[in-house]
Amino acid sequence: MAQYPPIMPDMPVLLHGGDYNPEQWIKMKDTIWPQDMELAKKAGVNTLSVGIFSWSMLEPEEGVYHFEWLDEVMDMLAKNGIKAILATPSGARPAWMAEKYPEVLRMDAMRHKQLFGARHNHCLTSPVYREKVRQINTLLATRYKDHPALGMWHISNEYGGECHCPLCQDAFRKWLKARYGTIENMNDQFWNTFWSHRYSSFEQVESPSPIGENWNLALSLAWRRFTSDQFCDFYSHEIAPLKEITPDIPCTANLMDFFPGIDYFKFGKLLDRASWDNYPPWTGDERDKESALHTAIMHDIIRGVGGQKPFMMMESSPSAVNWHPINRLRQPGILMLQSLQAIAHGSDTVQYFQFRKGLGSSEQYHGAIVGHDNSDQSRIFREVSEVGHTLGKISEVTGSAPESKVALIYDWDNLWILNEAQFGNNENKKYIETVKDHYAAWKQLGYNVDMIDQTGDLTPYQIVCGPMLYLLKDGFAEKVQAFVEKGGTYVATYITGWVNEENLAHLGGYPGPLRNVLGIWDEETDTLDDTRKNHFTYNGKSYACKDVCALVHAESAKPLASYEEYFYQGMPALTKNTLGKGQAYYIAARTDRDFLRAFYADVAAEKSLTPLMKNLPDGVLCTERSGDKGDYLFVMNTQPEERTITLPAGLNLRTDEAMEGEYTLNGYEVLVLKRLSSYSLHS
Ligand SMILES: [Zn+2]
Repeated sequence: MAQYPPIMPDMPVLLHGGDYNPEQWIKMKDTIWPQDMELAKKAGVNTLSVGIFSWSMLEPEEGVYHFEWLDEVMDMLAKNGIKAILATPSGARPAWMAEKYPEVLRMDAMRHKQLFGARHNHCLTSPVYREKVRQINTLLATRYKDHPALGMWHISNEYGGECHCPLCQDAFRKWLKARYGTIENMNDQFWNTFWSHRYSSFEQVESPSPIGENWNLALSLAWRRFTSDQFCDFYSHEIAPLKEITPDIPCTANLMDFFPGIDYFKFGKLLDRASWDNYPPWTGDERDKESALHTAIMHDIIRGVGGQKPFMMMESSPSAVNWHPINRLRQPGILMLQSLQAIAHGSDTVQYFQFRKGLGSSEQYHGAIVGHDNSDQSRIFREVSEVGHTLGKISEVTGSAPESKVALIYDWDNLWILNEAQFGNNENKKYIETVKDHYAAWKQLGYNVDMIDQTGDLTPYQIVCGPMLYLLKDGFAEKVQAFVEKGGTYVATYITGWVNEENLAHLGGYPGPLRNVLGIWDEETDTLDDTRKNHFTYNGKSYACKDVCALVHAESAKPLASYEEYFYQGMPALTKNTLGKGQAYYIAARTDRDFLRAFYADVAAEKSLTPLMKNLPDGVLCTERSGDKGDYLFVMNTQPEERTITLPAGLNLRTDEAMEGEYTLNGYEVLVLKRLSSYSLHS
């Protein structure tokens, strides 16, 4: 089992806190700031993120710096035993910069220059913007390098978006030249003879645009990869002075929920800690099951992005946000569920946006620990305090992490190209939904799941599932073959192995280089609208097929189920191939989760895997973290009604009670159980 270092080197506990914007209150600082510290301590806050949108207060005019207020804030945090996650301010720039240096403003795909305003809207290529960021980051690091409050760096905020300005066009062309070498090679990889689209020089290439080239899928894929790489490059630029001046202070950048614009697995390799902002639409009813599953897979993706180490829930709302279409109040118990669910999946932090609700501007009514009532008696404040108290009770889980024998692949390149590819259902290929269906099946069976992408190491796992891997990256098929030959189980589905890393179709039939591993030829794919269903029978039970039915020939594979309707009646809907010591399955049609649950239960049994808990009731999820101090089972009721479960023997860390056997969870209740095997009931 693995035991990881704490998120901040000298804070070996679970972190509790959030975004803190004291500069918004600078004209009331003598009354508000001391109240903030008192309220923070009451709520069990031990860390606050500062400086995220502070540029115009730190440098109100070019070259004129005002760090005095931040000095005062940092001193105040240190005095109150609170660690600062100090931000670089590049998430929003001051107006003077946009006015004086228009090149820092983005240009959209229609080639319209954007105006000053909003946030996350700077050209990442602009030498002026990069220099301004380098200057302010250097000043921050130099000033606070020895400050006792400095615990960590928060780089920018929620990186995202794209810029099509001339500087970015030039950078894109350089990126293309570096990747393809010659324009001849790029034309060939892009299949540019089609529509007479061959370029004669890189200078002719423009980023995709509705007023230009918007139909060349390889160009679109290249642009997505370039944009994502620009964020990696910009992040590296941002941290360079910090790494030089404060080499021991970890850096993170807060990521977003299924954000398509950055390949987070690639970006994550640059992060000392992975972190993300979690805003599920809890509704207080049956739909919370899906919200909980969605949040669970995102936690697992972020843990995967960070190399399966403990990560950070950098933001969450203590109550309703203000930007969902309908912002329902969080039901009592939801905040604890949301907070402990993060810990359950390997987060070592529960952090909120934000500490104190601002009096104006666009997030005026976004949930906060301290509301406009300025009170410690509000329901939300009391619930946050209870979370703080609970994190203290379960603090020994810090540094432990979930371990899994099952991995599920989610891949950004594959997402990008499936979003563009023209075939089958062009409204929605349902890639993310499909990955979530496979994930949900494993979670409902009671397993930990690791999320990886195609570049991930398969060797720690016994079962790897790669749904809808339309695009296969170079080397991936060989890796799967080696994994299976050595005894692993690989599960693929319809729409696998159609194109290579450059989006060129595999000549010789699908699933391309996985044909030998899977032992099938996937000849054609039928697309069903909502009025049509096919069926197959598996282990004596009938299951419906929807959306996609691949017409598959079993070559070395053995059919396990066959279609029962349409002209391809009798063709395999599910196959199993044996290769070396392992197995490779092909699910030829999209099904509901009931089939995936039944199928994965059998696949797990074949590998003699046992779930963390058996017979989980509908709406109950579990995970387990393991570390030097023990194994910690988290059992979460994601529904407002009671659920009865059967527990293994263990110690309830929230109540210090020994527990075993039948137990009824209240609505939204979360149990944190240290397993008996890892402690003595009699000690
Ligand atoms: Zn630009």
